[in-house]
Amino acid sequence: MTFNGAFSITINGAAQGTAKTIEVLNPANGKVFAQAPDASRQNLDAAVAAARKAYPGWRALPYSERQALVSALGAKLLEHADAFKELLTLEQGKSHYWSQFEVAGSAMWLQMVAQQTLSVTVNESTPERHSETRRVPLGVVGAIVPWNFPILLAAFKIAPALLVGNTMVLKPSPYTPLTALKLGELAREVLPPGVFNVISGGDELGPWMTEHPGINKISFTGSTATGRNVMRSAAGTLKRLTLELGGNDPAIVLPDVDIPRVVPKLFWAAFLNSAQLCLATKRLYIHEDIYEPIVKELVKFSASIKIGDGSLPGVQLGPIQNRRQYERVLELIEGARRQGLKFLTGTTPMQGPGYFVPVTLIDNPPDDAPIVTEEAFGPILPLLKFHDIDEVVARANDTCYGLGASIWSRNESLAQNIAARLECGTVWINEIHYTMPNAALAGHKQSGLGVENGLDGLLEYTVPQTVILRKAPNPV
Ligand code: NAD
Repeated sequence: MTFNGAFSITINGAAQGTAKTIEVLNPANGKVFAQAPDASRQNLDAAVAAARKAYPGWRALPYSERQALVSALGAKLLEHADAFKELLTLEQGKSHYWSQFEVAGSAMWLQMVAQQTLSVTVNESTPERHSETRRVPLGVVGAIVPWNFPILLAAFKIAPALLVGNTMVLKPSPYTPLTALKLGELAREVLPPGVFNVISGGDELGPWMTEHPGINKISFTGSTATGRNVMRSAAGTLKRLTLELGGNDPAIVLPDVDIPRVVPKLFWAAFLNSAQLCLATKRLYIHEDIYEPIVKELVKFSASIKIGDGSLPGVQLGPIQNRRQYERVLELIEGARRQGLKFLTGTTPMQGPGYFVPVTLIDNPPDDAPIVTEEAFGPILPLLKFHDIDEVVARANDTCYGLGASIWSRNESLAQNIAARLECGTVWINEIHYTMPNAALAGHKQSGLGVENGLDGLLEYTVPQTVILRKAPNPV
């Protein structure tokens, strides 16, 4: 596949035209480099109709055939990994290294999830009766994904939803529609028509999907604010929902760590993908005994990081993905300045073009500062001093979010003990961001509803069906 600049939506296994297009910008220079289809309500209706038509046949296929086809989509993506990597950097901004990682991860996800299976529960098996509960698909799944990991977060949904027999309409973010559209093109060669439809569009397309009577479930990844709107809108047709939302993840650093070893890990915990990661460390709690040396090393490490256009060699951090988010991050930084907070790095704004923000470390702000209480989703990190475990656990839990957390210590049992007290879906000890298709990823509190990945994630795309058979010789 060559990415020749032409992008089309995929409906019923074929390209479909749209009357309008949306501009796609390269965030490293702010310039428009592609036009993406702007799907209308009629395009959405056509996509849903195609998915509904394909559903009975897809559902009826033997499980092993769907396993093979979902896995084949992963293999197809791998064949084109280089082209996807370049396109992803162009539309999203991340470095080639991380684009490669995301594309390979997406292919791996499709292939590994395809190995998962569902089991049947036998409730009763007697000479008179056999009762069992099995899992059946839901119908048409509407998948809505954000702009920070546009293809990986789509793969999180495509693989389990299709595997268990649903069909899908995928909508990428208007900021990063291109890789998803190309994945739709690849799928035309692999999957039966209508099983996987991809449509891009403007701000109205998401709400049209969440209220659409032909869609049975919405699997949404995005901000908590939008998640609330999705829930409200889906209520009209009582759709099933999986919501993977925002986070404000704490990292807790205990005094027994080896400082030079831990500092690069803490840096990347917060700043990977220019901190545009739901599971990024967004509050860094450091024990008071090591606060000063950790801060000193972090400042030094930050100075060694190369920020720039992700397509250039050696660049480690790219730009903020879009102007709206860029302005929000600048506003938070400006607010911190107005509040008189102490900046350890990031005092000088970066010169354009492109939506670049320097690595910004804030020295021990108060717990109620917006930079501590809000999800920044950009490279500004509060460093917070703590005195004892009870205090830091209470501060870590003092948020409406509950996505992830990390604990850094050589004392494994103490760390395990702290993990058990944290109110969030994933806790890492001495590493971070390790996520696999077989491990549940769930947001507690207002970080989400439902689960992605693992067996729990697979079950989210099914409903139980109990079948009770009254056996012969007891004829009707
Ligand atoms: P967003 O909520 O603005 O948009 C996400 C998607 O929803 C986009 O495709 C958008 O077009 C669509 N959308 C917008 N309004 C909609 C509506 N009313 N109805 C239906 N769809 C609508 O989020 P974003 O700014 O693209 O992404 C950043 C956010 O996503 C952050 O809060 C981040 O923490 C979160 N996120 C969460 C996870 C997770 O797994 N929990 C992963 C990545 C990102």
